[in-house]
Amino acid sequence: MYEEIDDGRTITARKDHRCEWCGEVIRKGESCIKRTYKWEDEFWDNRQHPECFEAMKRCPFADEGFCPGENPRGAFEGEEEEDELEPTRETA
Ligand SMILES: [Zn+2]
Repeated sequence: MYEEIDDGRTITARKDHRCEWCGEVIRKGESCIKRTYKWEDEFWDNRQHPECFEAMKRCPFADEGFCPGENPRGAFEGEEEEDELEPTRETA
């Protein structure tokens, strides 16, 4: 059974992590989102890129489970085709 413990907190990565959503590396020193949850009586915590966390929240089927590491970075499957209105915001 899935139980949310902490639904996303921004932290600074203390070492390299792999993003739970897109599977790309989150480098040490970068901001990332840490999620903590309980699944089948075990505690898990995972890191995601901030843009991946946003994508997960937009994604209508993320609640039913998703394949870790198999999603486009900062988007979800099927989203990027529809939505090319604005370029992704630039990081200065
Ligand atoms: Zn990611």
